[in-house]
Amino acid sequence: MRSLHERGMRAEGLRRDVVIGPTGVNERCLLLTFDDGYLDTYQYAFPILQRYGFSATVFLVTDSIGKMRHWGCSKPVPLMGWAHIKEMSAYGISFHSHTCTHPDLTAISHERASYELIYSKKTIEDKLGLPADYIAYPFGAFNRTVMGLAEDAGYTDAYAGGPTANERFCRERFAIQSSDGKLRFRLKTNAWSSWVRTLCRGRLTSCHPVTSCADGMTVTSTADTGSR
Ligand SMILES: [Zn+2]
Repeated sequence: MRSLHERGMRAEGLRRDVVIGPTGVNERCLLLTFDDGYLDTYQYAFPILQRYGFSATVFLVTDSIGKMRHWGCSKPVPLMGWAHIKEMSAYGISFHSHTCTHPDLTAISHERASYELIYSKKTIEDKLGLPADYIAYPFGAFNRTVMGLAEDAGYTDAYAGGPTANERFCRERFAIQSSDGKLRFRLKTNAWSSWVRTLCRGRLTSCHPVTSCADGMTVTSTADTGSR
């Protein structure tokens, strides 16, 4: 965050007035997202976001709010509760869906996938009184059917967990890993990211977790951020 701040950049969350373009980039703004809603996002990331006046988006697993992570690994990890979420929302962090139970949406029935998409969105909107327009696919797993189900559920866009065609309902994100050095971090967060990604898609693939959720933050580019 300090590096972004020193470079004169700003981090934002997903909002209806933020327009994502496949190549268009606002050089001074990036979209910052956190998956799963871990408690440490509140404990460690939130104070830093506040320090620099940044915003972000957190994708929530609604059936696990206030509980422990039960997917993806054997180590239990605490997740934020609604009190944490409401405090962050009041500051300006936006919250969107990561489904109800974090399934691989491509591996379950259409009926179950629709339920996950619809009720996670409804839960967030009912609790916060704000729109939950976006979904991040658990494990970054999606296909054309899942994209259609997400649109049918009322979302306006959706995010994967790695390189994609970067079209509506399959937006790609750059995962920021603790192992990233300064050069890779800059590559992922500067205004050249879009065209570098396009030119070097195969080589950059290894930078992205395609089948697992990022524990850290992910970023994507913006075409127009409007005002905060
Ligand atoms: Zn996840």
